Amino acid sequence: NRQWVLRQRPKGLIQDGDLELVETPVPDLKDQEVLVRTLYLSLDPTNRTWMNDSEGYLPPVGLGDVMRGLTLGVVEQSRSDRFKTGDVVTPLSGGWADYAVVHEQGLRPVHRAPGLPLTANLSVLGMTGLTAYFGVTDVLKAKAGETLVISAAAGAVGSIAGQVAKQRGARVIGIAGGAEKCRWLTDELGFDAAVDYKNEDVGAALDRLAPDGIDLNFENVGGDIMIAVWNRLNVHARMAVCGLISSYNATRMPPSPNFSRIITHRLDVKGFLVLDYAHRAREMVEEMGPWLADGKVKWKVHVDDGLEGAVTSLNRLFTGDHDGKLLVRVSEE
Ligand code: NDP
Repeated sequence: NRQWVLRQRPKGLIQDGDLELVETPVPDLKDQEVLVRTLYLSLDPTNRTWMNDSEGYLPPVGLGDVMRGLTLGVVEQSRSDRFKTGDVVTPLSGGWADYAVVHEQGLRPVHRAPGLPLTANLSVLGMTGLTAYFGVTDVLKAKAGETLVISAAAGAVGSIAGQVAKQRGARVIGIAGGAEKCRWLTDELGFDAAVDYKNEDVGAALDRLAPDGIDLNFENVGGDIMIAVWNRLNVHARMAVCGLISSYNATRMPPSPNFSRIITHRLDVKGFLVLDYAHRAREMVEEMGPWLADGKVKWKVHVDDGLEGAVTSLNRLFTGDHDGKLLVRVSEE
């Protein structure tokens, strides 16, 4: 059983030696325990924040502990009455490992969506979809005719969020790195416009694309990109602070916007966590399911093979070198 263990707290991008892949025997099962073979590991920007010794929404991963991560797996052995061999499950506290021994109370069954691959459960119908869907419908309460700007728009959450907002009738502008990602947003996902932050001035592009200002911001990045949006937010604009990925590897904090705009423009700025929406997954599935079936909402997964490459794979999230929700295939379905 291979496990990635946190050895030291990374400074900046994860380096060799920060985590170590170790081999450990699989322990024998006790009553009510289940042995889960990992099929897929979800890699998420927040994984990097869990490696820091700072106050977060979860405790930091301890030095010497298996790296925490959301996984989906199959039951290989069971001493539980609730789960049998072959069941597809997701542990509540998964880790970067081939196998996990989990008490039945820490395990949830996975309901395969008809016609969709299992990877949908870790992407568009999983945490990614929940974040995007409720960020737009519940946090931002996007309405028809409003102009919404999304950063990291070609990423897993951003790309779904933009399409949900289009379904609500908003005008959607995405900010993403590179011409190809921007083309995907406008030509395939139906975004109204896209800004390539790697090749154009974001502020100037927003002035051109949103001459009447910005009503809504779904923020995934922070730093200079967020400031460019912030400085164009209209009176009574609403902002959903979903993520600040530009700071996750930073050794010095990126610049912040000028908070006086909150007062002068009566801004409504809200942070949110997907965890608070987990109990409302059914609502999302009911509305998103038909959109997926009709092709109104499109999604992509980027699957890297092999647990041994998980660290290299995670770093992709910070260079943008991935195309869709980033997953690692740990073993075959
Ligand atoms: P993505 O698939 O969006 O991958 C991250 C993307 O961020 C990269 O592809 C890259 O896109 C962009 N990026 C990375 N570094 C920078 C940078 N310095 N400046 C600008 N863009 C950058 O990941 P997710 O969809 O999983 O996550 C997106 C955001 O949502 C993250 O901030 C994450 O923390 C947050 N999140 C929050 C949740 C919550 O509960 N609040 C739940 C899930 C995610 P590009 O090529 O365009 O640069």
